[in-house]
Amino acid sequence: MNMALDRPLTLALSKGRIFEETLPLLKAAGIEVAEDPEKSRKLILPTNRPDVRIIIVRASDVPTYVEYGAADLGIAGKDVLIEHAASHPGALYQPIDLGIANCRLCVAVRNGFDYEAAVRQGARLRVATKYVAAAREHFASKGVYVDLIKLYGSMELAPLIGLADAIVDLVSTGNTLKANDLLAVEDIMPISSRLIVNRAALKTRHALLQPVIDAFEAASVKIT
Ligand code: AMP
Repeated sequence: MNMALDRPLTLALSKGRIFEETLPLLKAAGIEVAEDPEKSRKLILPTNRPDVRIIIVRASDVPTYVEYGAADLGIAGKDVLIEHAASHPGALYQPIDLGIANCRLCVAVRNGFDYEAAVRQGARLRVATKYVAAAREHFASKGVYVDLIKLYGSMELAPLIGLADAIVDLVSTGNTLKANDLLAVEDIMPISSRLIVNRAALKTRHALLQPVIDAFEAASVKIT
């Protein structure tokens, strides 16, 4: 692949919470985004700096763009990074926990389902999740047998219609669980978003990249 060294520094972001919570960090780094991705349909957003641009991709695709060098750096949740690392270990340099888009990865069940008793009795649980690698690791470390069912969204539905006994999902306010008569029964880990950097770009584009990494570091310390 021709990694044109004269192209702008490219930062991969996903829309929504990560984009919104990254804006103040970018601003502190002297980078202002000219357009709002919620309003614009553009996927490449220029910034006030001609040498820096933003690309808007799906959250789970951010590590892929950065690993292959199509983006020099990106911001992704720890949830996404754990799943990516399961098949691409060590592919990304992860210098900074930005402390943004904070939430928790939890096990949740239907209200009334006795999770503790099921675990105690050694029942083989069916668990639906988008986060298969993190879930596998969690239940293996507890010595609990589970059948994992991979879903891509709306996991809350699975225990309600009998697809699974439990789900592993991100919980922020807890409103989504509550609205669906679900209950978090186990905390797996806290989740926040991290800066990720292409390993080759770290060397070949060091002069352009390092000040941006430093600015992110300084801004995230100040803000979090
Ligand atoms: P809440 O109702 O505030 O607990 O939010 C839960 C819903 O939002 C679930 O569908 C989660 O998958 C999603 N969610 C919450 N926090 C995050 C986050 N930091 N990153 C991505 N998705 C999230």
